Amino acid sequence: MGLRLRARQTIGEIAYRMRPHPLPSGSLSVLMYHAITREDLRDPEQQSVSLQQFSDQMETLQGMGVRWVSLEEGLRSLKEGHGVGTLVSVVFDDGYVGVHDLALEVLVRYRIPATLFLATEQIGRPVFPDSSPRLGRPLTWLEVQVLIRETGCAIGSHGHSHRPLTRLSSEKIREELKASRAAIENRVNQACRLFAYPYGAAGTFDTRTEGLLSEGGFTIACTALWGQCRTGVHPLRLPRMRVSWCDTSHELEKSLAGCYDWYRLLQLLQPRRTL
Ligand SMILES: [Zn+2]
Repeated sequence: MGLRLRARQTIGEIAYRMRPHPLPSGSLSVLMYHAITREDLRDPEQQSVSLQQFSDQMETLQGMGVRWVSLEEGLRSLKEGHGVGTLVSVVFDDGYVGVHDLALEVLVRYRIPATLFLATEQIGRPVFPDSSPRLGRPLTWLEVQVLIRETGCAIGSHGHSHRPLTRLSSEKIREELKASRAAIENRVNQACRLFAYPYGAAGTFDTRTEGLLSEGGFTIACTALWGQCRTGVHPLRLPRMRVSWCDTSHELEKSLAGCYDWYRLLQLLQPRRTL
């Protein structure tokens, strides 16, 4: 574990111990996962969580009494206001095969209505071009359909080619959104209204990309900026909490309790380092 990560966890632990942190009610925590793997890979990119760890994390949150919600239901509940409980949404970016082969049984066990954000150009291909094969191949459309049938998950777009939108012309962005949306709607019986910005760090989305998403029929878009969603959150700029093998169940509890809310500031100061 790197020095930077250790320092981050230590600051979070101090925040946790300084005062009791009951889980906040009336907030939505969107947990962002990438690959679920059979072995504990401890990959330096922090893109993987082993099945055992994922199962432990979900069991812990279930025991803490969180309310599992889809993104759309979570945002609707936030608008309702009081007494909505601690809302948690689980999302998977990119479309790694482990979501089907491994995570599926856990999602079914706890009735978790997850969301898959697919980099649609990669679906059905033998490898992801920019990631380690150890993380797993891309899902096939058949596996996506099984996931929908077995878990009721929602499918969103993560771009077609997974290029950062802000580096593209408006015309190219329209093409990306159209291609990705068509790929999803042709394969699954769902309207595609959800989006997760490729990379998602500060600088990979802006008012221009938000305008083009609205124009393309998208109503919810997730960033990778750290934080919880609260009432009044911009639906095309949802913060999330990235989860990796570094996150024990205790780390997740700290995240949900708000002990890492300061991390967003660090991301904004060093956008490239926190991609
Ligand atoms: Zn991605």
